[in-house]
Amino acid sequence: MRKISATYIFPGNGNSVKNGILECHDDGTIINLTDNGGQLKEQQGLEYYSGILVPGFINAHCHLELSHLKNKISEKLGLSDFLGSVNRLRYSETENSGEFAEKADFRLWSEGTVAVGDISSTDETLETKSKSKIFYHTFVEAFGFLPSRAEKAFELACLTETMFRGKGLKASVVPHSPYSVSEPLFKKIAHKAKTENTILTIHNQESRAESRFFQNGDGPLAEHMIRNLKIDISGWNTGYKSSLKYILSFLPVENQLLLVHNTFTAERDLEELKKQRLHSNTFVVLCPNANLFIENQLPPVSLFREKRLNICIGTDSLASNHQLSVLAEIFTLQQNFPEIPLEELLQWSCLNGARALQIEDKSGSFEPGKKPGINLITEVDLQNLKLTGRSRVTKLA
Ligand SMILES: [Zn+2]
Repeated sequence: MRKISATYIFPGNGNSVKNGILECHDDGTIINLTDNGGQLKEQQGLEYYSGILVPGFINAHCHLELSHLKNKISEKLGLSDFLGSVNRLRYSETENSGEFAEKADFRLWSEGTVAVGDISSTDETLETKSKSKIFYHTFVEAFGFLPSRAEKAFELACLTETMFRGKGLKASVVPHSPYSVSEPLFKKIAHKAKTENTILTIHNQESRAESRFFQNGDGPLAEHMIRNLKIDISGWNTGYKSSLKYILSFLPVENQLLLVHNTFTAERDLEELKKQRLHSNTFVVLCPNANLFIENQLPPVSLFREKRLNICIGTDSLASNHQLSVLAEIFTLQQNFPEIPLEELLQWSCLNGARALQIEDKSGSFEPGKKPGINLITEVDLQNLKLTGRSRVTKLA
């Protein structure tokens, strides 16, 4: 048994405890968290650290299979040119891609991440995931803009999902984005998700170009489809109020839904979301460093807080980020939204992510019986409870 104490313990599901004591088994299973009213008496075998103890981080949006594209794509291209670059490099830069995924998995683990919601379009990360200490829920993305491709795209995604499930890994088929999935493909994915009661996720309102494509049918996204993907978009209907409104009609309300990015989501979209979906199974995933990398824009986080949405944190891939660190994401949020308390940012990174991936029975908070991982954050401004540019994570369990 271990007894661990630190300047602060953030349990993930409530207020921080100053100089508390966390008792756990040697394998990291939590026994108890004691609040000593801020006073710490010397005890035999007590480990004491200067810093903050938090549960293991949950990264709710990543693409491990794009790890080999690190430093290959320029920043601030805008989504359409970014996607063009990914398409161009995705299969030409494949040398040692498995090794890159493995390295990324190791970095994720050593920087305190215990679970990842990972988008995959292939089975390339299967081996890495089956050996990993991290819990992965693989979201197998299906895409196909043309209705004629729906059957084939769906079959391919189901096949990939079967391969992950065959190795005992959690997986579900999901739509890539509002603009890359045809109506019949959406319907197939929705039917399967509803039947199996699986978790759904989708890239949502990641660029201004997406809104323009739905409203007017033109702009950079339309050009990307015509130029890079050589798709005939003449059959596309326009005049939609927003891409979110469009997709909500396809996504079953009963299913857990993780909306990723939401960089250009407006208040009227959130009203629609509230009208059409349950609060308890709807999550917004923020990937601020990728948003700055691609579009140089951050999502309306204050609005999401005001509307009391369930917020969690993702990193996106190394194609659009310099690291896969949950701590780096919340540091960016803190720098841009200084009014958000650190405690709240940590709840987004731990318990909210665990709830989104439906693993809150074992992860996300320091509650007896859970084995959530124990992270120590050092180099924190402990007077003001703020992260600093030097803040680091050490895994204690
Ligand atoms: Zn993504």
